[in-house]
Amino acid sequence: MSLRQVAQSESLDEGFLLKRQSEALEFRDKLTGILTSAQDFSDVVDRVFKEVIDYSGAEGGIFRLANERTGTLDVYQTMGPLPKTLEKLIPRRFGDGLAGYSAQSGETMIFFIQDDLYNDKELLNIGIRSVLALPLRAKENVIGVLEIFSKNDKGFDEQIVKTLSCISRQIGLALEGMRLVETLEHRITQRNRMYRLMLKLQSRATLDELLFEIVNILSDIYAPAYSVIVLYDPEDQILRLKAASQRFMEEIGHKEIALGEGIIGYAAKSRSALLINDTMMDPRYIKGVLEVSSELAVPMIAEGKLVGVLDIESPLLNAFKEDDLQLLTIYAQQAAMAILNAQLYEQAREQNLAKSRMMSALSHEFRTPLSVIKSYAWYVKNKKEIPADELDEQLDVVLSEVDNLNELIENLLNIARLEQGRMEWNAVNFEVTGMIKGLIDMFMKTASERGITIALEAKGEAFTWGDVSRTRQAILNIISNAIKYNKDAGRIRIEVDSSERNFTRVSIEDTGIGIKPQELEKIFVPFYRVGGSKIEGVGLGLSITKQFIEAQGGWLDVKSVFGEGTVFNVYLPARGSNEQ
Ligand code: ADP
Repeated sequence: MSLRQVAQSESLDEGFLLKRQSEALEFRDKLTGILTSAQDFSDVVDRVFKEVIDYSGAEGGIFRLANERTGTLDVYQTMGPLPKTLEKLIPRRFGDGLAGYSAQSGETMIFFIQDDLYNDKELLNIGIRSVLALPLRAKENVIGVLEIFSKNDKGFDEQIVKTLSCISRQIGLALEGMRLVETLEHRITQRNRMYRLMLKLQSRATLDELLFEIVNILSDIYAPAYSVIVLYDPEDQILRLKAASQRFMEEIGHKEIALGEGIIGYAAKSRSALLINDTMMDPRYIKGVLEVSSELAVPMIAEGKLVGVLDIESPLLNAFKEDDLQLLTIYAQQAAMAILNAQLYEQAREQNLAKSRMMSALSHEFRTPLSVIKSYAWYVKNKKEIPADELDEQLDVVLSEVDNLNELIENLLNIARLEQGRMEWNAVNFEVTGMIKGLIDMFMKTASERGITIALEAKGEAFTWGDVSRTRQAILNIISNAIKYNKDAGRIRIEVDSSERNFTRVSIEDTGIGIKPQELEKIFVPFYRVGGSKIEGVGLGLSITKQFIEAQGGWLDVKSVFGEGTVFNVYLPARGSNEQ
């Protein structure tokens, strides 16, 4: 005879009562055994659920767990014949329906289907007549509700209700304990992964690889959150998005953030970590494309310098805890060092690349005049009789190539002398316009071959205090570039301005190919050539020019519009010798 049939017969004689009590005790023993021995949360729920169904003789049930974040009772597991429509009733809010009411009041509820309070009409359709809702309490909280159903009008007798009510508290406490342990274990795993991630920071070679490694692992640890790295550019004083989880990058693309702008900008400016539990409540939060409910932004600082910000954004509320913040702060320090190292490494690599490019450019620069010289020498040697004027012409070519070689060697020596601080300067007061006229005469032939015109604008004499040959070399380099990087039939305008008493300004303006803004700084770096320019050159001229001018107390600037032209302004010290 099943328990249900017994309950129906209502033959509650004493022997029977004893039997029921011993069954209840047996059930409680079993359950205690399960609750104290099992390891895995879902395994415990499954076994407890089966035992309860078995003991109570219920047709089936729903095991719901409270979701703190959404305030709902979400279905964790179901058992027995439940129609699909019932599953649609989930998640259920606290206070809503029988389970909700039981969760809110913390009381065991038993209802029979004719009871008006119970509103799950679907149950009627599958013949369910009695429902028992057991709140699973742990201390002050209800962590879930176990609802069981019976097809009998009085499906659960007093003994069952009493036993299950008593045991439900024990179930609640045990499950809460297990949940805490699992959260703790999860956190420990998280920590371990973070430490492993820290070790990885030391092994990455390129900056990009490093950044993507960091965001991918962080996104993985904090899923469904995504992570973002912005790096600080001290020159432009702006934060640039450098790496993000795949989806984020697709949605956002490349982005710039000002210091103090939004949560990331605030973390960077204040150099302090921010933990935002609900972004909607934070006035600093600026809504973006993706849904972000909570956020953790930690500045990365190395050697006292702001390197960037590490940011994790979650679509869930309260996704991060205080210890996540602490952990990420430690991690951000390590990441900052690793990023700084990777940046230095990249710079060194770029310099090495520039050097090897320079070596091949130099070999080319040497080889061209040498092969011209060799072929002319070979020609002269093998030809028995050469007319005097032809020989003269041949030797002129050879001499001009030797001059080119000499100039190249001189440039290289200048670089070496400047780097070693072994340059000798003979400063005198001299007139600049005359010197520039001489340079224009020198370049006239080369310029006119390409239809380029050179115009000079100068009012009277202009003086400077400096080394004549170095100043001449500096201006020569700029004029030479203005021709080299000009378009055919282009124009060059040179202006000498001596209206200031303390300096003379020489401007060399061309209508050439122009230089992109991001290249402007780099053109003064030794051996740097824009986009590996096809026009002949080794990338030394401007670097020498700048150093020559600055060493004499002058300065220079450059403005350019890509595709339209460039203007170099050279300011030469005049020590008050310019007339007013
Ligand atoms: P080089 O001319 O030997 O390459 P420079 O140091 O003189 O070396 O110049 C460095 C780079 O700057 C050049 O390779 C060229 O790309 C760019 N540059 C210099 N002057 C100009 C100019 N007037 N117009 C356009 N680009 C220029």
